[in-house]
Amino acid sequence: MNYDFDLFVIGAGSGGVRAARFAASFGAKVAVAESRYLGGTCVNVGCVPKKLLVYGAHFAEAFDQAEGFGWQLGEANFDWATLIGNKNREIQRLNGIYRTLLVNSGVTLLEGHARLLDGHRVEVNGQVISARHILLATGGWPQRPDIPGAEHAITSNEAFFLEQLPKRVLVVGGGYIAVEFASIFHGLGAQTSLLYRGDLFLRGFDGAVRTHLQEELSKSGMGLQFNSDIERIDKQADGSLLATLQDGRVLAADAVFYATGRRPMLDNLGLENTQVQLDKRGYVQVDELYQTGEPSILAIGDMIGRVQLTPVALAEGMAVARRLFKPEEYRAVDYQLIPTAVFSLPNIGTVGLSEEQAKAEGFNVQVFESRFRPMQLTLGSCQQKTLMKLVVDADTDRVLGCHMVGPDAGEIVQGMAVALKAGATKQIFDETLGIHPTAAEEFVTMRTPRN
Ligand code: FAD
Ligand code: NDP
Repeated sequence: MNYDFDLFVIGAGSGGVRAARFAASFGAKVAVAESRYLGGTCVNVGCVPKKLLVYGAHFAEAFDQAEGFGWQLGEANFDWATLIGNKNREIQRLNGIYRTLLVNSGVTLLEGHARLLDGHRVEVNGQVISARHILLATGGWPQRPDIPGAEHAITSNEAFFLEQLPKRVLVVGGGYIAVEFASIFHGLGAQTSLLYRGDLFLRGFDGAVRTHLQEELSKSGMGLQFNSDIERIDKQADGSLLATLQDGRVLAADAVFYATGRRPMLDNLGLENTQVQLDKRGYVQVDELYQTGEPSILAIGDMIGRVQLTPVALAEGMAVARRLFKPEEYRAVDYQLIPTAVFSLPNIGTVGLSEEQAKAEGFNVQVFESRFRPMQLTLGSCQQKTLMKLVVDADTDRVLGCHMVGPDAGEIVQGMAVALKAGATKQIFDETLGIHPTAAEEFVTMRTPRN
């Protein structure tokens, strides 16, 4: 059977672009279809613009600290339109880089929505294209609860393009996006409350990390309302919103931001024309080789609902490209010890097991924990504290988990992740000399286990 392409990729996001580029570099004839924006969620409405906004928000803290170091800056004014305009220009530049990367790798780029016709054929812009293998990498989409007035609320997709910074924001949710965007709005000067339906946000993270961040955000003046959820949202004549909570309270806001998770993007994808199955949660079901129920169709990234992070989608894309077109170099993706950061202010960085997970898995757990005021804050009025924590298996001395809340936590924990991946013991941490004076040196100087 002759096909137009060896591989047809649907979605030019993190996973799709990686798979397409590398498959082409291994000699395959590859096409990729993209309906919205090159680079996908991460580049356009995810990691990259989010991090730029976090940098923007961090200046409020930096200006505060500057006074302690003798700088007299006068009154600081923030202009949202400048930040968003510059962010948009940078994203446009990145879109161009993605286009060049694909074209220079010899990948055929089709700009339009792709729909499966069967296991080997796809329709894009009215054109029918055949391929030996089809890779689904369509990512995810924000979802919001179905409550009266939900249409008045925004999600991360819209937040990146607001014309003005809202004066009062209610952020709903307790995951990565809720905590990060609450920090962004709060840092940029909006009166911000975070509403979470449970007792404490960031379910699944280490308990000390969660409580430490709660304390720091409260100290910074952000409103934290746990065990709270919105029942309805009403729009007022002046455009502002009234959110009625389940406990009857009514909160006024200029924006309600839902960060209540994401669903796989399957809209009009044509799955019904194939044997592709969904799992119980509605994500595309794949085996350990990313194979769907249809032998010629694979799926990776957010749409398979494993770990929804860009480096994971990249690794899955690479694994698929290698297995199909350079099998001698195939290595399975290792889902153990995936480091991650939450870019709240202050940041969280984490890798490995939380104390609670380590105990639940039956380890004989020893905990080393330190809370201190970072040196860069000591001359200012900011009372923020940093938390560092190591979770150790007392039987083997192996470090099982490493957690931090504080400035640059993501940068610091990336290095720690290499040590954990290499199987470092606490003794190796102890024998490693610190870099003085840094905050990171605390990770190699904690000697006394917590009782
Ligand atoms: P995506 O990057 O979403 O790409 C899917 C692409 O497919 C999209 O471009 C879409 O337009 C296209 N598409 C969909 N359907 C079709 C179709 N039928 N035809 C043609 N094209 C189609 N991860 C991190 O690691 N670090 C972070 O700091 C981080 N921050 C984030 C912040 C936010 C606000 C969000 C929402 C996510 C963040 N993530 C972060 C997660 C990260 O963005 C995703 O895990 C990653 O983008 C997933 O890659 P993907 O290839 O699966 O899908
Ligand atoms: P998450 O799954 O992380 O969090 C969703 C939150 O919404 C949870 O706190 C959940 O509560 C709550 N929630 C879910 N449904 C409802 C509801 N009906 N009513 C009220 N609350 C609800 O999703 P996010 O949207 O924050 O992010 C999606 C994914 O994107 C993340 O999991 C992460 O993988 C990735 N991401 C990564 C980032 C990074 O690496 N820095 C940054 C941003 C996103 P409960 O806990 O009770 O279930």
